Amino acid sequence: MTGFVFSEKPIRIERGEGAYVYDDGGNEFLDMGASYACVPLGHGHPAVDEAVTEQFETLTYVQASYPNSARTALYERLAGTAPGPVGKAWLCNSGTEANEAALKFARSATGNSKIVATMQGFHGRTMGSLATTWKNKYKEPYEPLIDGVEFVPYDDAEALSEAVDEDTAGVIVEPVQGEGGINPASAGYLRTAREVTEAAGAALIFDEVQTGLGRTGTLWNCEQAGVVPDILTSAKGLANGLPMGATLCRDWIAEDYGSHASTFSGGPVVSAAAEATVSTVVEDDLPAHAAAMGDYLRTELEASLGDEVREVRGEGLMVGVEVGRGANRALKELALNHGVLALPAGRTVVRLLPPLTVEEEHVDRVVEALEDVVG
Ligand SMILES: *Cc1c(COP(=O)(O)O)cnc(C)c1O
Repeated sequence: MTGFVFSEKPIRIERGEGAYVYDDGGNEFLDMGASYACVPLGHGHPAVDEAVTEQFETLTYVQASYPNSARTALYERLAGTAPGPVGKAWLCNSGTEANEAALKFARSATGNSKIVATMQGFHGRTMGSLATTWKNKYKEPYEPLIDGVEFVPYDDAEALSEAVDEDTAGVIVEPVQGEGGINPASAGYLRTAREVTEAAGAALIFDEVQTGLGRTGTLWNCEQAGVVPDILTSAKGLANGLPMGATLCRDWIAEDYGSHASTFSGGPVVSAAAEATVSTVVEDDLPAHAAAMGDYLRTELEASLGDEVREVRGEGLMVGVEVGRGANRALKELALNHGVLALPAGRTVVRLLPPLTVEEEHVDRVVEALEDVVG
């Protein structure tokens, strides 16, 4: 038997430590994609390792209908860090499930069905989340998906205001589009999204699966615009590499969520990993570190590549370098010739989502490598 969904890359990764991973020959690679932004603390962080080992030995799994202290500790930790009134959590196993639940909850709580989503947006690959994802290539083989999704241009407050009406259940939006090319929305747009959804009685859903947990310089990106959504979704780095997603909701959503569940919701081991991850992000002040390192990274990229590339953009340690058509070639050369792993975002952008713990030496290495590859 072999897997068939991912086309595998010619490097066999067997070990990780901090910002580095190692192949089967012991060669070192700087993981500037943090393996899809899933290891904000770097590989093998001791706080997470210890929490997981201890919980694994105590109780690996119990269904979520029994209270359990690992899960309770995570609920408390999330409530203490989530923006204001977004105080109730649904725990799941991935980003697409977190968004799938958000769409269901929005429909149930409002009694409406229409969902407004954005062009170039990405929200996952299960039927509901996929229906709100923009790229046709991801959707066409599986149609029909769910009905009632309307797409509007991203960061266009007027188009959004026109699309939201009394039949709208929710608006789902990434405060910075990730997969779509690292496109930050303006604060004004996010505020308009808040105003028009509130006026229509619709749920505002911020998909912070990629932007959350300090990556863009604040724990949640929406803090920067001063906007509190009705539903905020998180996943990717939430348990520093273990599968965990969360749909954080205001009371009016949680009170009328309908009927939703999942067998593995908030298992003790992943809950312990997530609690340790979120605690470390907060206690080590990693959002501020991500802001400082992100500024340094973008400044250095501008200085050495400003004339060679079309644009360097992003917030904190969520950075896109617009290199033109050759993004995939650049990524291959970065990996094979410079030992630097990064991600694409579409065909033209090299995407950097390093662990939030990176230091200037790591940044210098990636800037030097990119200069050689695209300069
Ligand atoms: C990755 C991603 C998802 C999907 O998460 P999965 O865990 O792959 O299902 C959803 N939204 C955003 C913004 C993402 O970056």
